[in-house]
Amino acid sequence: MTTYDYDLLTIGGGSGGVRASRFAAQYGARVALAEKSDLGGTCVNLGCIPKKLMSYSAHFHEDFSDAKGFGWQLGQATFDWPTLMANKDREIERLNRVYRTTLEHALVEVLDGHAQIEDAHTVLIDGQRISARFILVATGGYPTQPVFSGSEHGITSDDFFHLDRLPARAVVIGGGYIAVELASILNGLGSKVTLIYRGSRLLRTMDHDLGPFLAAEMVKKGIDVRFDTIVESIHAASAELDEVKHLKLNQSGHKHEIDAECVLFATGRQANTANLGLEKAGVTVRENGSIIVDAQFKTSIDSIYAIGDVIDRVALTPVALAEGMVVAANLFQTGEQGKRGLSYENIPTAVFSHPNVATVGLTEQDARKNYGTVKIFKSEFRMLKHTLSGSSERTFMKLVVDADSDRVLGLHMVGADAGELVQGFAVALQCGATKAQFDATIGIHPTMAEEFVSMRTPI
Ligand code: NDP
Repeated sequence: MTTYDYDLLTIGGGSGGVRASRFAAQYGARVALAEKSDLGGTCVNLGCIPKKLMSYSAHFHEDFSDAKGFGWQLGQATFDWPTLMANKDREIERLNRVYRTTLEHALVEVLDGHAQIEDAHTVLIDGQRISARFILVATGGYPTQPVFSGSEHGITSDDFFHLDRLPARAVVIGGGYIAVELASILNGLGSKVTLIYRGSRLLRTMDHDLGPFLAAEMVKKGIDVRFDTIVESIHAASAELDEVKHLKLNQSGHKHEIDAECVLFATGRQANTANLGLEKAGVTVRENGSIIVDAQFKTSIDSIYAIGDVIDRVALTPVALAEGMVVAANLFQTGEQGKRGLSYENIPTAVFSHPNVATVGLTEQDARKNYGTVKIFKSEFRMLKHTLSGSSERTFMKLVVDADSDRVLGLHMVGADAGELVQGFAVALQCGATKAQFDATIGIHPTMAEEFVSMRTPI
C-alpha cells in the first residue's frame, strides 16, 4: 500500500480549509494545512471581521445623534481613523493566533508557505515536496477590478482595510454586497460618498423590493447613489489619498464629472487558482478560474477536493464551513464515508449596509417561477426607537408564502440588526414552517421581530 506523508493536505487556511482540516484530524486523519499568508483567510483578514468592526464604528455616528432625543447631551464627537485601524488590526492578529493554536490543538500541522500541486498526491510547499492521500484546495478568492483608462488609480476592498486615513470624498463602484457595505461604512465615518452602479437595482440578485428600499435609506443617510452609470475614465497622478481623482461618468448617455480622493472598486471577486499547479495535476477549472467539483466536492481528479469561494458556488463563510465539514466526514468519519452532501436551500445571508439587509429562502420572483401562486405579505414602518431619536430610517419586512401548501418560502428584511433577526427565522424556514405556524407564534413586544408573526393581510 502506498504511504503518504499525510492523509489530507489542505491548501488555504481560511474558514473552509481550517474547518475541514480540524474535523478531518478529529476523525483520526493525519492532516497538514499550507498557508502562505495569515491564517483566517478573507473572512478574518480582509472581509467579514474587519468589515463588521468598521461597521460598528460607523454606526456610532448615528447613535450619537439618536441619543439626543433620549435626553443625552453629548459634546462634539470626533473620529480617529488610526485608533480604529490599530484596534481592528490588533483583533485580527489575535484571531490569527487563535486559528493557529486551534489547529495545533487539533493536531493539524501548519506549513507556512506557498503550495503548488505537482500531481494527484504531491504538493510542493516553498520547494519542499509533500505527499498526501487527499488534497483539499480551499484557496478562496480575491477582488477584481475592471480595466479602463485610469482604473489603476482605484483600489479594492483589500486595500480599503489598510488605508492610512479616511478619504474626504470616496466613489464606490458596484451595486453588490461589498459596494453597499463599504459605502455605508465610509459614509458613517464621515466621508462624502458617491455610489456608482451600472444597473438600476442594488443587490440585484435578492428580492426586488430590497434594493430600492435600501437605496432610498442610503440616500437619506447622505450617500449620493447613481444608477445606470459607468465610470469611463479616471484621471489622476496616482492612487494615493492625497491625489484628487477626476472621474468621467456616463449616466445613460449623460456625461458628468466628479472628483474624489478614493475610488473603490467593489465589482466582484474571482477564484484564487493561479499558480496552484491545477492544470499540471489535471484539475478542471471554469473560464473564470473557479474549480469544478461534484456534489461531494471532488474535482476532476479523484484525490483532489475543493471547497469555499474557489468553487464559486455561494461565497459565504458559513457555507465554506459546511462544505469543509462535508468533505472531512465523507473522507474520514467512520461509517459516514461518501454519504454526505450539502443542501444549498434556505441559506440565510445578511448584508451589513446601513441599514442592514437580511434574507432567507426564495425571492418573490423565484417563488412565482417555481411555485406559481404565492401570497406576499409586506410591512414598512419606523421602529419604536426612532419615534424619539427623530431618525427617519424605516424598516421593511416581507414574507413570501406558497398559496397551496401555506409554507413560508422566503423572508426578507431591511432594517437594524436584520441579520440577527433573520438567523432565527431561518430555522423556521429550514423546518418548513407554514404561515399558519408563523401566525400561531406569539410575538415579543415591543420588538421589530414581532412584525414577522403579525402580518395578516396579503397584498
Ligand atoms: P457582487 O457580485 O455581490 O457584486 C459585484 C457588483 O459589481 C455588481 O453590482 C456588479 O454589477 C458590479 N460589477 C461587476 N463588474 C463590473 C464592471 N466591470 N463595472 C462596473 N460594475 C461592475 O460582488 P461583491 O464583490 O460585492 O461580493 C462578492 C461576494 O462576496 C458576494 O456575492 C457575497 O457572496 C460575498 N460577500 C458576502 C458578504 C456578507 O456575507 N455580508 C459581504 C461581502 C461579500 P451587476 O449587478 O450589474 O452585475
